Order: sequence, then C-alpha cells, then structure tokens
Amino acid sequence: MRYISTRGSAPPIPFDEVMLSALAPDGGLYMPEAWPQIGADEMAALATRTYPEAALQVLKRFSGDAIPLSDFYTAIIAAYRRFGAPEVTPLIDLGDGLHLLELFHGPTFAFKDVALQLLGRLMDWGLKTTNRRALIIGATSGDTGTAAIEGVRGLDRIDIVILHPKGRTSPVQRRQMTTVLDENVRNLAVEGTFDDCQSIVKALFADPDLGARYNLAAVNSINWARIAAQIVYYVAAAAKLGAPSNQIDFSVPTGNFGDIFAGYAAHRMGAFDGRLVIATNENDILARTLQTGRYEPRGVVETTTPSMDIQISSNFERLLFEAAGRDGAAVVRLMDDLKTRGAFELTPAMLAFIRARFDAERVSRDQAAAEIARTEREKGIVLDPHTAIGLAAARRRRRPGVPMVALATAHPAKFQDAVSSAIGRKPPVPQRLKALEALPERCDTLPAETAAVKAYIEAFAGGRA
Ligand SMILES: *Cc1c(COP(=O)(O)O)cnc(C)c1O
Repeated sequence: MRYISTRGSAPPIPFDEVMLSALAPDGGLYMPEAWPQIGADEMAALATRTYPEAALQVLKRFSGDAIPLSDFYTAIIAAYRRFGAPEVTPLIDLGDGLHLLELFHGPTFAFKDVALQLLGRLMDWGLKTTNRRALIIGATSGDTGTAAIEGVRGLDRIDIVILHPKGRTSPVQRRQMTTVLDENVRNLAVEGTFDDCQSIVKALFADPDLGARYNLAAVNSINWARIAAQIVYYVAAAAKLGAPSNQIDFSVPTGNFGDIFAGYAAHRMGAFDGRLVIATNENDILARTLQTGRYEPRGVVETTTPSMDIQISSNFERLLFEAAGRDGAAVVRLMDDLKTRGAFELTPAMLAFIRARFDAERVSRDQAAAEIARTEREKGIVLDPHTAIGLAAARRRRRPGVPMVALATAHPAKFQDAVSSAIGRKPPVPQRLKALEALPERCDTLPAETAAVKAYIEAFAGGRA
C-alpha cells in the first residue's frame, strides 16, 4: 500500500514513511492510493474479536508490508493495555436505537489517545529499524498536546516540544502536560493565542535550517497513521451492530475533521453503509459549507467545547480530494482560492458527492448543556460537552430502524465547569486526574516569536541528539 498526496504532485511513499512525516512536499495530505476492502464474512468474524485483534485486521491493510505483523501487534497490545476499559472502546446502548461509543478510556481521558498511544509506539519502531531520531513539534489548545506527550514520553528516539497558549488551556489539561517530567518532553507556554502557537509551529516546519538538521514529525491529525488508528473503532462498532448487512449511522463531534474522516474511510472499506453526521458547535463552517457549497472561515468563537473551536478543518481537504474524483489539481485550485480570496466554492458535483454521505448539525452551547442535563436525568450518564454536541445532533438525525452511534470523545471530568453548570454538580473526577494536582510541573514561558522558540528548540534537541 502506498500513499499519494491530495495535491497530486508528491511521489508516493509507504506507510512507515507516512507515519514519520508531516505534510506531503507539495503541501497536500497523504491518502491511501486505493481503499482496502473488508468483506462481510470478516466483519461477522470481527464482531467477537478483541479490540487489539480487530485493530491488527484493519491496520495491516493500511501498512501493507511496511511493518512486520508481529511487531505491529506488539505495539497495538502495548498501546491499548493502557486503557481503563477492557473493551478499549465500549459501546453503550442508550435505548431507542441510540448508542454511545466511549473513546475516552485512555491515559489522558480524550479520544486522541486511541490514535496517539499507537502512533508513538509505531514511530519509535520505525526510528529504531532505520536508526534515526525524530523531533515532534506541535501546538495544542488542550487535548492533542496532552495525548501526544503521553504517547511518546520516555521513548529513546523521539523528542517532543509542545506549545500551548499561556493561561488559555484548562488547569487539568495544563497539568496533564506539565507534570510529565521525562527528559524527552518539553512544554512551552507561549504568550499569545492558540493561533499564534500554530503559526509558529508552521513556520518551524517550513524552516529549511531546522528541517536539514532534524527529522521533524507531526502528530496532528494530518498524519495518516492517526486517521488509520481511528478507523478501527468504527469498524469494530459496526461489526458489533451487524454491519454491513444492515445500515448504521454515526454522529461525530467535529473540529479538524480527522475523526469523522476515519468514519468515511471505514465506510469506503465496506465496513458499513449509512450516514455520517458532522456535529459542530457555533464554529459551524462545515455546516454552512454543506448548506451553501461555500467554504468560508470566519473568526473563531470561544465555546465550552474548545477542541471544536476551529475554523480551518485541515482534514476536510481529504474529503475534497475524494469529492473531486481524486483530482489533485482541483484541490490545488480550491486551496489557492482559500489563500487568495479567503473562501472557495464547491462544484455542484462535489457538493452532491458530500451530501450523499454526510449531514451536518450545529448545536449551540445551550443545546449542549441541555443534552448533558437530559442524558444525566434519563440515563444517569454524565456527558462531556463535546459528546453532548454529538448526541444532540444524533437525536435530530435519527432514522427509524437504523442504529445511530454517537461518539463520546472526552471524559466529563476534563470539562468540569461546563458540566457542573449543566447539571448543578461537579462530575466525578478519576483518581488519575485528581493525583495531578499534587505533582510538580515543568514548563518554560516564551514570547510569541518564532525566533525565540527556534532557539529554545535548538538548545533542547541539540543537546539530546
Ligand atoms: C479533538 C477533539 C474533537 C474533534 O476531533 P477532530 O478529529 O478534530 O474532528 C472532538 N472532541 C474532543 C474531546 C477532542 O479532543
């Protein structure tokens, strides 16, 4: 299996290279050159397999012969052993055809662990076999940086520097990052916004000097290996619910479009037929695009669901590539329009392609709070606000006789203020999170300037190489 760029002009590369790189050299995102298939018989067999077994069955189709299966399975077992639920991603029946797919039982209590626990181990394997090191640089508004750090802490061949906007992540999320004292981990509090952090990271990736000296790797969801790892829980849930012989719909709280694109990929593999509901908060660019065909970022509004406070959904480019019949030149034209005019228009054919599979629902913060209260009252289950957005959207789009799976992306204890204002009390806090309050923190503060961050990174990584 080889990977091609959504912009059509980068040389194809294998899975082990994809997982260690960031954007393709032409600025696009890597995609499998064809969708591997999973047959109805195999789906039936997967219904009774453990999560690691299912993961190997799905992921070997994307890695091809790039990683020996025994090494791959070892990494999978080690990654999912750290999850607090024996099923890894339990499927909870809410009645009335609604199901909750709990993805937050990993070490940082958000769904990003599902991919990043595995990615860290796979990268480490890849670097060992080629005798290299890698330097991960990333920006986070909370969940991604936490899960990335937890995924690579203590590894010999990977150093990681995570930038967060000083004072703007929740105290729990900050402590989850800054209490990791392993020597290969550095946290930088940047005196600026998340966008400042992100543009510094972009500039560092484009810096020829750093690029020549370090093997720079990305852990945001532009990395295909992350999407691949997320395909597994769609396939496993679909198998449990009897797909592909019956339809199944999924509702996904969406930010960067990585998670829901994994759902699309599972559908393209033949794991299920059904609709994919893009659930957004007030930052509803994708809902507007599905309605009007025009993709136009506006200013980001702060909400109670920070992981969805995004206006540029990077992985949407992967869907554009599919909708354009895999025509890289067409994607380049849209991205040029976005850059020069601040928006692009989908062709009628592309819009029809997307609407044939996706619906979009915008859920306000009050509606999310009402969903948290309702689910607690009716089922005794406390949702986090991101999950509440997905479940509220799921209720609106329920089709009679078709199971609807809403993805539960974070533990409620990560977002205590929003939860307690919805139900009038704090959610129960797991011991592992409570314990963080007593631990020492390590974090350096820098101004929002690329040169200062670059000098810091050089001093850190240079000393470790
Ligand atoms: C990252 C995140 C999302 C959004 O996922 P995308 O892949 O960016 O669409 C939703 N909920 C939570 C809790 C997250 O951490």
